[in-house]
Amino acid sequence: MPASQTSPPSPTTHLISVVLPCYNEEAVLARTHDRIARALRPVEGVRYEVIYVDDGSADATWNLIRTFTRESPMVRAVRFSRNFGHQAACLGGLKEARGDAVVVIDADLQDPPEIIPEMVARWRQGWHVVSARRTARHGETAFKNLSAFAFYRLLGRISDHPVAFDTGDFRLLDREVVDLLTGLTDRELFLRGAVSWAGFPETAIEYQRDSRAAGESKYTLPKMVALSRSAFLTSGSVLPLRLPLWTGTASLAGALAMALTRRGRANALPLALFGLESLAVGTVGEYLHAVLRQVQGRPAYVVSERIRSTIPGAVLASVEEVA
Ligand code: UDP
Ligand code: MG
Repeated sequence: MPASQTSPPSPTTHLISVVLPCYNEEAVLARTHDRIARALRPVEGVRYEVIYVDDGSADATWNLIRTFTRESPMVRAVRFSRNFGHQAACLGGLKEARGDAVVVIDADLQDPPEIIPEMVARWRQGWHVVSARRTARHGETAFKNLSAFAFYRLLGRISDHPVAFDTGDFRLLDREVVDLLTGLTDRELFLRGAVSWAGFPETAIEYQRDSRAAGESKYTLPKMVALSRSAFLTSGSVLPLRLPLWTGTASLAGALAMALTRRGRANALPLALFGLESLAVGTVGEYLHAVLRQVQGRPAYVVSERIRSTIPGAVLASVEEVA
């Protein structure tokens, strides 16, 4: 990375942190580092720091990261004690980041670092979240393409806080959003869902997703299942818990109609019993959902701005002025 990045920042200089979660990425990391360094040349008013998060790699990933820290003053790194998974690695990177804005990007060059400066430019226009939307995915297996397609569409339909289609974790987050996310106490954070829950103004840049530059996907099937589980169940949608309420109500209504119209009267009783059972399960689901939200402990609201009258003496102004 260019030595000019070490020069003291001017008061208006913004620091942008770039977080790379890495798990067994020895095959690609040197190339990634090189491309990141070329893509993130400091420009007027913008400096970068690069944060590698080694998510418990068992190969030479950490040794490579060590060499980067020796060669480049802007590199910092954290190493997890074991593999905690991609979402945890992203969160770890967000916690380490000191920037005014933070970009999370995959380490396998599927996400082109060259669009980061454009993300920064959008952020400087006032956007709090700048996400990157994939218009095409190159070099993925048919299964990956299909599962990703289904995942995003289903999530978009049933999620309480819909995540934009074809948008992964490659995005820029303003410091305000980062502080909010890292302050959440969710045991299993689904980052995309949490960003959408936070509700800050978001824009998207479209890009074509390249194939992995080297190595193999670390998102194994069990990891994909775990991500979907947390996306749909614990941090995304109340629908699975609420479904029995709807089926129960519909079944009871159906049973009543059957009894009244004398059509299929014999089936009305079993259907009514099924409906009552479903309603009971659905009621438990509602309590479970309330408990889940309580345990999650998310704030009831997020403030995005505060204003007050600028007329002198109009209202008590701020805590400092009152004190
Ligand atoms: N990754 C991670 N921990 C994991 C799995 C993946 O930090 O347990 C990182 C990985 O090194 C990469 C990013 O997350 O930088 C995305 O993973 P990958 O490219 O294997 O997933 P895919 O693009 O195939 O969905
Ligand atoms: Mg990848």
